Amino acid sequence: CPTVTVLGIPFVNIDRETALEQLMNYMRSPHTSATVHFINAHCANVAQNHPKYYQALLNANMILPDGSGVAIACKRVGTTLKANLNGTDLFPLICERMAEEGLRLFLLGASPGVAEKMQFKLKKQFPTLKIVGVQHGFFGTVGTDQVIDKINAARPDLLCVALGVPRQELWLQKHRHRLNVKLAMGVGGLFDFNAD
Ligand code: UDP
Repeated sequence: CPTVTVLGIPFVNIDRETALEQLMNYMRSPHTSATVHFINAHCANVAQNHPKYYQALLNANMILPDGSGVAIACKRVGTTLKANLNGTDLFPLICERMAEEGLRLFLLGASPGVAEKMQFKLKKQFPTLKIVGVQHGFFGTVGTDQVIDKINAARPDLLCVALGVPRQELWLQKHRHRLNVKLAMGVGGLFDFNAD
């Protein structure tokens, strides 16, 4: 994919449909285990002083530009961003396609009860969507092995990780090799916005 690099972070510069197709391709492919992250202006600044987070971003398969701050930063380096690819807008489109294609979704993160609420809402909106597991995000380090077992047993095509920035990127960086998922995406506060 074409990318533009700002503050050392390579974002994809593609339209929404192309981004969606790429995400679906990760999920459809039998052998992938991809990681995708969103970056807004705040995250880009955090990454400057956080080498592990920065490295986790560089190890991702794709970084999606989220919000107008990133678009402004790109303009400054002489590039116009094709699209604002934020998670809030993309997520319902992803769910719609996953439902059509029978792909499996796992929701990991947020306070106890929030992912369940989100599951309930998604089921109403996309009745055929296969939500194969939910797990809150306060399991601590001792619960990590159990959470990974639970995820792997559910065999999700997409794992949404809502532990906040940069916790979710660091968690995925550390555990991605043990996760049997086609695509894992860090989604920040998405469950909190969507559950109400
Ligand atoms: N969270 C979590 N486990 C933690 C810390 C935070 O699951 O140990 C969740 C929190 O409940 C919230 C999300 O991570 O749902 C972070 O949301 P926030 O909007 O702060 O994150 P951002 O979008 O700014 O990364």
